[in-house]
Amino acid sequence: MLRSGGATDVGLVRSNNQDQFLVTDVLCSVADGMGGHAAGEVASLTAIEALRVAFEADVTADGLAQAVRNANRAVWDRAQEQRDLRGMGTTITAVALVTENDDDVLAVVNVGDSRAYLLRDGNLDQLTEDHSVPEELRRAGRLSPSEAATHPQRNVLTRALGVDPEVEVDCFMVTPYQGDRLALASDGLFNEVDHTEIARVLRTEPDPVKAAQELVRLAREGGGNDNITVVVVDVADDDGRSHRASSTLTATPAAPADAATPPARFRPAPPPPATSPPSPARKATPQNPPRRSGPRVTLRAVFFLFALLAVLGGALGAIGWFARAGYFVGEEDGEVVIFKGRPDGLLWFEPTVADRTGVLLDEVRASRRPDIESGREASSLADARRFVDNNLAPTTTTIPVTTDSTVTTVTTVTAPAVAPPVSSGQPTAAAP
Ligand code: MG
Repeated sequence: MLRSGGATDVGLVRSNNQDQFLVTDVLCSVADGMGGHAAGEVASLTAIEALRVAFEADVTADGLAQAVRNANRAVWDRAQEQRDLRGMGTTITAVALVTENDDDVLAVVNVGDSRAYLLRDGNLDQLTEDHSVPEELRRAGRLSPSEAATHPQRNVLTRALGVDPEVEVDCFMVTPYQGDRLALASDGLFNEVDHTEIARVLRTEPDPVKAAQELVRLAREGGGNDNITVVVVDVADDDGRSHRASSTLTATPAAPADAATPPARFRPAPPPPATSPPSPARKATPQNPPRRSGPRVTLRAVFFLFALLAVLGGALGAIGWFARAGYFVGEEDGEVVIFKGRPDGLLWFEPTVADRTGVLLDEVRASRRPDIESGREASSLADARRFVDNNLAPTTTTIPVTTDSTVTTVTTVTAPAVAPPVSSGQPTAAAP
């Protein structure tokens, strides 16, 4: 027989509580939602409700693991249906009393970084493994426990419900003995209250509800940087098993078994307990740096986003450089003009006027006009000006004029001189 109680609190920093907990006669759970606005609350509530319903249909260890997979699918489906819920997710940790081979056992399941602890014979052990970046590194021997506890990426989960259509579920079996006490907690507890302090409260406060409330209170005192949720589960009666065996803690995969369906009753997270205004952080409790207040994301999504932005930025830069790299001699409103850019433009990079020549297109030799009309490309502004000077220079005609006694040569300019570039300061070409 189990006797359980829970407490939850928004903490001192967050504006809403995205944690949820469930306490029934045979099933207890904690979920810590993530996602912008109300998405985190939707994720954790959806998961807890789906877990409860699915477990009622199959109250075995396998049934509990399957219930977590159903909860994952429920959160995933909800996120796909509703645009503003995209990317939401949640952790889940649950313990259930199930019957395996005609014996009562406790099945513990976990996805994410909420935790299940077991207090037995006065010693507190963490049953679950956190699915977070620093904890994976610690298990691989690449970080020390203290480095993992203060790692800046300890909010980044490697596994959560709702972020993929399928999820891997950790499942542990615990043979219960009278006097055993389990605690389920969101990271808002153990990021603020150290292991020794959690063990002390669980050892000294006999009432599960009061023990949960006291742990929540200590987490607020320790900083309250996140939502805090604790569920305490006591093994009140083990049918005399504790007389028969020494302490046993196994962590083996769940095996299928049949069991009668016990009643289960859903109890949503109650309003935060009335607490006094936050007091200064206690010196006895190590305080961790403030937690990021935004939604948590998976490491894979962060890498993907950065890679995508880098590729897009690089491509746009290259196109922009290419589009604005050259010059050409073209025509605008009948005037020969030097443009910067590409003759037909490129994407939204339109050519711009770099210099006006003062030469009218009509005055350009007919054989040169198609070249100008299609845009005669040049490698630089100087190159473009050279082309204008050398090819669009005024044409001259010599007309003999007869007077009474002498022949005088008069030169008529039939095309104006090419105006020099404004910036060059060269003298205007003059007809001879
Ligand atoms: Mg949290």
